[in-house]
Amino acid sequence: MAPIIRMLGRSGSGKTTLLTEVVRLLLARGVRVAVLKHAHHRVDLDRRGKDSFRYADAGALSVTVVAPGKVATFEAPAREPGLLELAARLGDNVDLILAEGFQGVATPYLLLLGPGDARSPREDAGELLGVISTDGEATPLERDNPAEVARYIMDWLAARDPAQDALDRAMREAEAFHGHICPGQVLGVRLALLGCRAVGIEQPKRSKQLIAWVEVDRCGADAVQTVTGCRPGKRTLKLVDYGKLAATFLNTETGYAVRVVARADSRERAAALYPHLDRREAQMAAYRSLPDEALFTVQEVSVEVGAYDRPGKPVERVVCVVCGEEVNDHRQVAGDDGPMCRACAGGAYYRPVGEDDRVRAPW
Ligand SMILES: [Zn+2]
Ligand SMILES: [Zn+2]
Repeated sequence: MAPIIRMLGRSGSGKTTLLTEVVRLLLARGVRVAVLKHAHHRVDLDRRGKDSFRYADAGALSVTVVAPGKVATFEAPAREPGLLELAARLGDNVDLILAEGFQGVATPYLLLLGPGDARSPREDAGELLGVISTDGEATPLERDNPAEVARYIMDWLAARDPAQDALDRAMREAEAFHGHICPGQVLGVRLALLGCRAVGIEQPKRSKQLIAWVEVDRCGADAVQTVTGCRPGKRTLKLVDYGKLAATFLNTETGYAVRVVARADSRERAAALYPHLDRREAQMAAYRSLPDEALFTVQEVSVEVGAYDRPGKPVERVVCVVCGEEVNDHRQVAGDDGPMCRACAGGAYYRPVGEDDRVRAPW
């Protein structure tokens, strides 16, 4: 996700006028800018009587209007999507998102003061990057100087640490997928970013040449999934439950693989680094800031992906002679009377209850 800068200011303070100039200037300097604007009324988007309005009124979930040089989609979601959700939709196709409005979302922001506006004592969530006012003496940024504002934004973009940027982005995605942020999540994200980098895959989500083996079925496993884009359903994420926060990353194009393991002493290191924080907070802070070598060991490994384990369609299907259920990709066991599934061959994790093993289904 691209970095977001919000422009806040009273209605009528000239946000749009300034931002349109800033957008023009940034584009001229090669920055791919997207704008997200928070409007308060539906009529600001779509006008009564227009065809798009009528279709939406009829209940269509989304209405897309295409005309030469422009495409507009109107949706009527039950819940208004938030800034981060909207930003995530833009993916990595833009370098910067300028957002107008969206108060209270903790992202960096610029504050625009109109003539006579006083600074509010209680400012917004997120980092205040600068105050823009009519009086260049009082603040570094002048309202009537969009070039200066554009330069200020360019400098801010250039000063961002790209590694931190990637970590921030990955953390946001991991949190959205996992449902909360926790030490295992932070460590898992770091582990996966390191693993992908180690096998030479900088943009794992766009890569079709990555397979990951995860050795734990806990928080960290979700993190590996979000960072890598590998999924069990694509057969690119394999769970081999050794109960270890460790994972192996294979670049299928080069055949190069590394196994990354979280160090057993990382918890103690975290507590020592942040003695004033509680254990969990200390871990989350330390797992973000400690260098990779303090948190992980990395070993080069050789790993085979068998013909029956590769992504793609099943290579083989047989029917178990005992239960009649279908078995994909050579997971069967040879029995005297034909192929048997592993469950029937005596390795089931479940046990049928009662005599009648046919299901009394709820239908
Ligand atoms: Zn968790
Ligand atoms: Zn069977």
